[in-house]
Amino acid sequence: MNLKERNKQVFNVDACTLCGDCFSLCPEMQLPKEVAIDEIKALIAGENTKHVLQHCTTCFSCNLICPNDCKPYQLILENWNTKYIKRGAPPMYRFVCPSMKSNIWQMLYVLMSKEEIGWIDKWMNQPNKESIFLVGNYTHILPFILGESKLLDYFTPVDLLDHWECGAYLYQGGYLDVVKRIGEKCKDDFNKWNTKKIVTFLDALHYVLTTTHPQEMGTNFSQNVIPFNQWFLNMLEKEEIKFTKQLNFKITIHDNCYSKTGGANYWDPPRKILRLTGCKIIEMEHIRGDSLCCGFGAGASWTKNISIAFDILKVAQVKMKEAEATGADVLVTYCGGCLYLLWAAREIFESKLKVFHSFELIRMAMGESIDVSQKIHIERAWDIISIISYHLFVSIFHKPFYIEEITMDPKSLGSRKFILLRIIRWFLGFKLNRAIFRKIFLFLLPRLSTPRKWEKK
Ligand code: SF4
Ligand code: SF4
Repeated sequence: MNLKERNKQVFNVDACTLCGDCFSLCPEMQLPKEVAIDEIKALIAGENTKHVLQHCTTCFSCNLICPNDCKPYQLILENWNTKYIKRGAPPMYRFVCPSMKSNIWQMLYVLMSKEEIGWIDKWMNQPNKESIFLVGNYTHILPFILGESKLLDYFTPVDLLDHWECGAYLYQGGYLDVVKRIGEKCKDDFNKWNTKKIVTFLDALHYVLTTTHPQEMGTNFSQNVIPFNQWFLNMLEKEEIKFTKQLNFKITIHDNCYSKTGGANYWDPPRKILRLTGCKIIEMEHIRGDSLCCGFGAGASWTKNISIAFDILKVAQVKMKEAEATGADVLVTYCGGCLYLLWAAREIFESKLKVFHSFELIRMAMGESIDVSQKIHIERAWDIISIISYHLFVSIFHKPFYIEEITMDPKSLGSRKFILLRIIRWFLGFKLNRAIFRKIFLFLLPRLSTPRKWEKK
């Protein structure tokens, strides 16, 4: 299915005045006004751009910037979709496709503890799915965040990898035709399970289930969908759940890309909750509507396969510096996707910041035991760095590809031994080797990342 068959152009071309604000006020690019106007004209004409399609971090801010609610963000996605139809997805992208071989979940399976595998197996094989908590693909990478939290007793945690975060991260890369198929699959599954209520761990899932799929893909969901932070805040306010411990962290909060789709509905609940834990919040320079990307989104605007990991880390470096500049001790994110990326960045750039998911701080304030030394996070960051390094190497031998199959055989988890990955991971288990890896990565970073052709203000 191509974009025409999807037949849903979201960008409102008739309302666009070609003012250029979307890209001149873009927090990532801040293009000079005349350049921004040329870029929007090129996108409307379906032509290649010099900047936006190459450097956009798929952060959603331009939709908030546009004074006429034209949805320039969706125009970018539509152009990326056209590119995808012509050239396919980059070979590196295989690692986030659960239906492809050697995806991150399959590879992590050989590195995870038995305890983590036990949780995942349970979440993947729940018998009753009437009231579910959608754990999602990102948290599947870091199952210890949820572990055996008492909070999971309020619903049935469900984690099907081939729900692809209900299409949320593919949507951000412009894989719109695949996202439509994923939405239809999710709908079939929820209806088959007789699901009535869905609490989404990620705000992104709330947005795609309540807005993207119904309004842009023509797929409607009958379930009551609630974002976790709103659900939890409500439980705190009704005193059905209570904090038993006050935390004394100085924290700064990262607002993820999808949070911009819901505005205060997504930005405020985590802040209210975290204040109630006793944490002191020190805000970063860019928050809420103009929050900077964690880095993950920089992979969407790929030009060369080899550059993807470097482009991502280059953007992540800016985010880490901004977080460090606040003087906070802890960087908190309420998105599992940002969490694993920020952890990889923390290790590569040797940041002293602790990085927590807000759920972990919630658990601490509820009196649950969390490893404050963050050893498990550090080791998982190096698991992920090992997997990305593996893919960087093997993708040299692969061509761009199309996402034909969206279902995944659960038996594919644990079906391969991944000897090369284990060797890389063993090597990166030593401090000295990690230091060597960092040096090589930092040497390559300016040389292999995509050069920016304009000066950032
Ligand atoms: S999505 Fe974000 S990075 Fe991309 S053009 Fe819009 S504001 Fe800029
Ligand atoms: S999409 Fe909106 S902000 Fe961008 S040029 Fe058109 S009217 Fe201006």
